[in-house]
Amino acid sequence: MQTGSLNKIRKTILEYDAIRNKKYHVAGDAFHVLIGAVLSQRTRDENTDKAAKNLFSVVSHPGEIIKMRAKRLERLIKPSGFYRTKAKNIRKICEILVNDFGGNVPKDREALMKLPGVGFKTADIVSLYAYGVPTVPVDVHVDVVSKRLGLVGENAKYEEIRTTLENMFDEKEIPRINSGMVEFGQRVCLTARPKCYMCSLVRVCKYDRKNLAPPKRGKS
Ligand code: SF4
Repeated sequence: MQTGSLNKIRKTILEYDAIRNKKYHVAGDAFHVLIGAVLSQRTRDENTDKAAKNLFSVVSHPGEIIKMRAKRLERLIKPSGFYRTKAKNIRKICEILVNDFGGNVPKDREALMKLPGVGFKTADIVSLYAYGVPTVPVDVHVDVVSKRLGLVGENAKYEEIRTTLENMFDEKEIPRINSGMVEFGQRVCLTARPKCYMCSLVRVCKYDRKNLAPPKRGKS
């Protein structure tokens, strides 16, 4: 890809990051970030928020979750979906945090990925949003946007996407890529039907099934 096109993409992603709430750049409590990331798996932001609000209104430490009855934990996180599996994973995570890490969340990526239900994405979310490590958690929006723009090949997997994006941006900009691509993916490059007709990257984008016809009046 030409330098001019890459610069345009970088500038646009950073602009969308600026639109997104700045709170995502502030390091959060690692325990909240980790459990929030587990709750966010395979669900929408609003469901995650409801479940996290329920849970963190009654607990603030992994030890409190271990003592909680299983049914109560399930009830609290039910809005996030897949709540039985998530409750089991969260309980096991809390046991490991208490037994092996003194109740704290480890910073090490490998250690994070040994926790139940924690893969690349969840570990990178904790690294970035709890500990400020410059990295790019690759969620569905980051995956889709990177592939449509042609920054990575269609079959690229998590680690290839992450490292490619990290190499494209300056180090100080890396923490903004995830939020910028999520915002861009939610507002313009929608997973199901991208709004190419209003996209500032339409001339540099490599996607071959662009949606260039704006909706008729009265339709969204
Ligand atoms: S032109 Fe369409 S597919 Fe390409 S980045 Fe923009 S919205 Fe996404």
